[in-house]
Amino acid sequence: MTGCTVPGCPRAAEEDTHRRLCPRCTHQLRALLRELVGQMPLLQASLQLDRSPTTGSVHGGRAHSPMPVRGDVLTLLGPGSNSTLDDPYGDARGDQDGPLPIDTHLRGWAEMTALHVRLAPGPGIRPGRTWAAWLAAYAPWILTAPWAGLFHQELTELVGRVRAITRTEPRRRPLAAPCPSCGAFGLVEEDWQPYVECVACELLLTPAEYVAYARRVLPSLYRTALQIWTHERIAAMNERVPVRVLLLIGDEAEIVADVPPAERAEPERYPAAEIAEALGVALGELPGKRLTAEAGADDRLTGWQRA
Ligand SMILES: [Zn+2]
Ligand SMILES: [Zn+2]
Repeated sequence: MTGCTVPGCPRAAEEDTHRRLCPRCTHQLRALLRELVGQMPLLQASLQLDRSPTTGSVHGGRAHSPMPVRGDVLTLLGPGSNSTLDDPYGDARGDQDGPLPIDTHLRGWAEMTALHVRLAPGPGIRPGRTWAAWLAAYAPWILTAPWAGLFHQELTELVGRVRAITRTEPRRRPLAAPCPSCGAFGLVEEDWQPYVECVACELLLTPAEYVAYARRVLPSLYRTALQIWTHERIAAMNERVPVRVLLLIGDEAEIVADVPPAERAEPERYPAAEIAEALGVALGELPGKRLTAEAGADDRLTGWQRA
């Protein structure tokens, strides 16, 4: 059993394949590439999008005229001076200001991939028109390369930089069914991720597997959830409210909520005899008495008791 080559990953590489990553890192790598493909248009848009109020305004107090585009985005998008491979003197990175542009970065990995699968030395862009899409198409080969773990690590870092600019993080949504493996309510789906994952035990399910499983387990679960909900709802409806008899008017008692006078709503009238009987007191004793009662669905009070 060989270990996953992603730095810091303690898992074993996928069995019975030549892959150098564990199943989890494999899916992550695919998801990262997919996300990068999806992020590129956003990144392009971010180039001119970010106009913070102070930038270039007369009140901003800047000494120089504002850049029409964001420098950090430009650096990421800009054409690179060279790739990682065809750089015999190792000075290509040196004349690049800041981090390598995405294109240069990915192109370097594409060339590594081409070497690995013995394609023509300089791959042109065909699948998907971007290097991210190209690499996604060649993911099965990348996964068997000795540098697959390193690629995963760099890709994570690269996608992190892109997310910081486009301000988009993949969203996680919890799913209703519990994990079929560990029973925890830990199943989540996440943007770009092809698999449903259990955050408790790391089980991976394809969406189809999840749906098939959820179909089997959810109806009874939903029934249970519904019962709990109904139960709570009935309990809430039957909650006893503290009230007070204000005074008697004829044979009716004026009832107010037992709260400070300023918070009281208009008094409600109820048959005084009914209340007196429930409490076992004489009518004359009612004014000023503190009671509790149940509020029904129609907001009428019943079930009078001494407070
Ligand atoms: Zn791993
Ligand atoms: Zn689980």
